[in-house]
Amino acid sequence: MNTVTIIKKKRDGKSLTKKEIDFLINSYSQKEIPDYQFSAFLMASYINGMNKKETAALTKSMLYSGKIIDLSDIPGKKIDKHSTGGVGDKTSLILAPIVAAAGINVPMISGRGLGHSGGTLDKLESIPGFKTNLSLKQYKNVIKKCKAVLIGQTKNIAPADKLIYSLRDVTATVESIPLITASIMSKKLAEGIDGLVLDVKTGSGAFMKKLTEAKALAYSLMSTAKSFNKKVISFITDMNQPLGNYIGNWLEVYESVQVLQGKNVKDLLDVTLHLSGAMIYLGGKAQSINEGIEISKEIIKTGKAFDKFSEIVKLQNGNISYIRNLKKYPKTKYKEIIKADKSGYISKLDNYKIGMASLELGAGRKTKEDKIDFSAGIIFYPKIGSKIKKGDVIAELFTNRKDKIDLSKNMISSSIKLSDKKTKSVKLIKLIIK
Ligand code: URA
Repeated sequence: MNTVTIIKKKRDGKSLTKKEIDFLINSYSQKEIPDYQFSAFLMASYINGMNKKETAALTKSMLYSGKIIDLSDIPGKKIDKHSTGGVGDKTSLILAPIVAAAGINVPMISGRGLGHSGGTLDKLESIPGFKTNLSLKQYKNVIKKCKAVLIGQTKNIAPADKLIYSLRDVTATVESIPLITASIMSKKLAEGIDGLVLDVKTGSGAFMKKLTEAKALAYSLMSTAKSFNKKVISFITDMNQPLGNYIGNWLEVYESVQVLQGKNVKDLLDVTLHLSGAMIYLGGKAQSINEGIEISKEIIKTGKAFDKFSEIVKLQNGNISYIRNLKKYPKTKYKEIIKADKSGYISKLDNYKIGMASLELGAGRKTKEDKIDFSAGIIFYPKIGSKIKKGDVIAELFTNRKDKIDLSKNMISSSIKLSDKKTKSVKLIKLIIK
């Protein structure tokens, strides 16, 4: 096989065979193809796209660049959830214990935050002592003991994705549906799952800003999952405003614990229960998503969800005294309150800007090497469609970076659009695709 011939084929809009894709991925993984040639292939794929067959072949090739974790000795179904991420998206922290308490294994391999969007691993690591870099043996032990585990990508899981993602990042080829599909699915399929629930976000704080883009990604992810005989349900959910009110790593653990203990944070609970309901349904413990939602509510009500979360934290070495006594956590040096300077109805929020304001306060990273301040972040109160009065508290900012307070305040204030006329709230669950 010849690398240039394959690149030419993709450049000219032709489809590649599985053999050609395997050749490219294997050779690049073994450093037999230089970055400049692989970049040309990525750009040709970005511009000309890939059909379903090519996307499945690319996923398979990337998946088998590493190992598929064998969970066959663990009884019961294994179901995971993947979200394309956003601002305040903490559903994994709430649904993993709920679904595990319903008797379904949740072998979750998650990512870190980058830019405006947060990551589950960073949130969990804000709990003192919590370990996300477990060995495969430890990973299996935790899931055997409590049916849920949350770790980061290991060296053995889709290593080709790690290499390719770094190159996509610097060659402007991230935003490609087939490349995103193969990247996400190669990692999820490596978990040894039976089924997957997808939460594809759309709106100003999402990766996919437009509903049409989110739908196209959801269909691509679903068709790839199905080609591997996995059960899959997709949700397209709103990301035009933060999910819940707390943004920032410990702040999000704080809000998740409150929800696990029964607090009704309406939008956060609504999305989380739909996802957990679908996971329970796919795991065979409910006849429908709605029944799964009712089971999830009961698990929270009876205290089983919080108990399961405590068990997971303990088994992953976290200090549970912090989640039992949320007030014990170290505070930031500075706390700043933003009040509304006029009255009106919220018509629009720039959720990307809100996420970036949180990053400036120390809660996120601009580059992969940046260090996170776990206590930093924002509590953001208004929701689209709600009325605010002059003087109402809009947001509370928490930071150790005094020099970033004014910048973040301006970002938050300018992210809010007010109207004199009554505005509509947003539809949270935009679409369910089975
Ligand atoms: N998340 C991933 O894991 N890969 C992508 O390509 C985009 C988002």
